[in-house]
Amino acid sequence: MNKIGVPRVVLCDLDGVIWLGHEPIQGSVDAIARLRALGAQVLFVTNNSATPVHEVEAVLKRIGIPADGCVLTSAQAAVRLVRPSERVLVCGGAGLVAQIGEIADVVVGHQEAEPEGVFDAVVVGFHWEFNDVVLRRAAQAIKSGARFIASNDDATYPTPEGPIPGGGAIMDAIAAACGQTAQVAGKPHQAMADLVRSRCANIEPSQMLMIGDRVSTDGQFAKVLGCKFALVLSGVTLDPSDSDADFIGRALCDIADQM
Ligand SMILES: [Mg+2]
Repeated sequence: MNKIGVPRVVLCDLDGVIWLGHEPIQGSVDAIARLRALGAQVLFVTNNSATPVHEVEAVLKRIGIPADGCVLTSAQAAVRLVRPSERVLVCGGAGLVAQIGEIADVVVGHQEAEPEGVFDAVVVGFHWEFNDVVLRRAAQAIKSGARFIASNDDATYPTPEGPIPGGGAIMDAIAAACGQTAQVAGKPHQAMADLVRSRCANIEPSQMLMIGDRVSTDGQFAKVLGCKFALVLSGVTLDPSDSDADFIGRALCDIADQM
């Protein structure tokens, strides 16, 4: 196995790499400490838009990974697709509502009162409250002229009990109902790449390494950024035979071993 070489920046996915349902994957906490001890800056890049950034940081800290200021979410990337003071219908979790609410006038899709008036954009992400009411409201707003934005398009979300429908499944339901396709913010799309670049000024993509468990998002994201990709088999990908990953490990600790 080729040595990876220590990158200046490790872009590390969370679900399926660090944890499953916030339960740490064996060896992941120690692996992050080893990467940092080798001199790599670690940024956690997640397509999870439902959990607020400060909560993600708190969970990482609780399992033994200090991460204040090191978490980038698809909710933060989605903010880049919304203009200040726009009126936005957010059909997503608390993390998406909070991030979009920092720049826009937000109406939450699953709240009881029927929203009135015209929306500039509908921003969709995973949320537990998704139902036919949210579906109808989102589709109606888009058909009335609102831009259709999704935080991420992951069809499934890995949990300790196996995959459950993800934000991409919700996005697809709304797309079917309104007949339009969404502009997607998260990995592997441009808004997330721009967010990473804005946080890594003066660092060449060749000095970065993306580590993730999903080829279609994490692997493709590495290509969009122009950096190398390390695939781990501790999440949604169990068979690496179709992957063109630069490096493969059973889990994050295997990748750290290769440095
Ligand atoms: Mg993942």
